[in-house]
Amino acid sequence: MERVYNFSPGPSALPLAVLEKAQKELVCYKNTGMSVMEMSHRSKMYLEIIQDAEKLLRELMSIPNNYKVLFIQGGASLQFSMVPLNLMKKGKADYICSGEFAKKAIQEAKRFGEINVVASSEDKVFSYIPEIDSSKFNKDADYFHITTNNTIYGTRFRTPPQTNGVPLVTDMSSSILSEEYNVSDYGIIYAGAQKNIGPAGLCIVIIREDLVTGTPNNVPVMMNYKTYVDNDSMYNTPPTYGIYMAKLGFEWLKDLGGVKAIQKLNEEKADYLYDFLDNSKLFRGTAVKEDRSMMNVTFVTGSEELDDKFVKEATKSGLENLKGHRSVGGMRASIYNAMDISGVKALVEFMKKFETENK
Ligand SMILES: *Cc1c(COP(=O)(O)O)cnc(C)c1O
Repeated sequence: MERVYNFSPGPSALPLAVLEKAQKELVCYKNTGMSVMEMSHRSKMYLEIIQDAEKLLRELMSIPNNYKVLFIQGGASLQFSMVPLNLMKKGKADYICSGEFAKKAIQEAKRFGEINVVASSEDKVFSYIPEIDSSKFNKDADYFHITTNNTIYGTRFRTPPQTNGVPLVTDMSSSILSEEYNVSDYGIIYAGAQKNIGPAGLCIVIIREDLVTGTPNNVPVMMNYKTYVDNDSMYNTPPTYGIYMAKLGFEWLKDLGGVKAIQKLNEEKADYLYDFLDNSKLFRGTAVKEDRSMMNVTFVTGSEELDDKFVKEATKSGLENLKGHRSVGGMRASIYNAMDISGVKALVEFMKKFETENK
């Protein structure tokens, strides 16, 4: 069977070149006579893989030397707990509630301390990024948490808030490596791998060194950032194959010209789709223009029945996983780094046709 255009929000499409390279190396990795999956994580060959993965990510994101790169299991959701467990010393944190994942992060953090929700966009189904009023910040907060890109609602922060020395922590799961970010704006960046990096099961954490010190004593060893720092993410067996796949993805991105180059392609893709939506008589985007995501494009026809029909017919035409999140309905096209512009063009062609047929 031919590969489809897969607009899945996550796990999502991977670059074909990455899959093919993995396929070629699946049974015998280089001259080892075994698969990466079968290798000791302490072997020389595997150490090379994990070290290369880190080196490539550092290069791609220009990560400063005073930041550690950690490979952790448990997805982005485990970070909803690890962040407060490790960072709460005074027991207070500021959060922006800009979507479903932000809400989950807040709920979890509330188990560990006093959470101040500085701003929320829940009143309008998270269709925008809320205005942030710094007079509402808690000067005493241990950290300030945002979600850079809201996967479900298709919005994003264009510039991170200024937090006056309070470490800014961001969930960057659905936009890491999609555009240039200044790592030193953040205390912690975390991202589940299954959107823009590789297969699920791996979470990348980029953490400023000073935030790894003074962790409360009762933090479980597997949930303590220091454990990962002190053991090069190998206190226990890391998700070895996921890290290998991430490495292949980083190589692919580097060959393509790095984040600057992919950002340009991502802008082209998003512009193409949003331009169509803005001029369509049937479809309309659901996120406010200024806050639109470059990775997740959410839209509706205005009729649930037509939305369903659209998703069904698109699937038949090889355009898959366009159904919006169960909490919002409608449609969502996730156009992460691995989605080629040809996929976006095919989607727009299909939408045009659907529009003519359903006037
Ligand atoms: C997908 C996603 C998550 C959840 O990731 P898991 O790996 O399933 O825990 C969290 N935050 C954002 C922004 C996401 O897009």
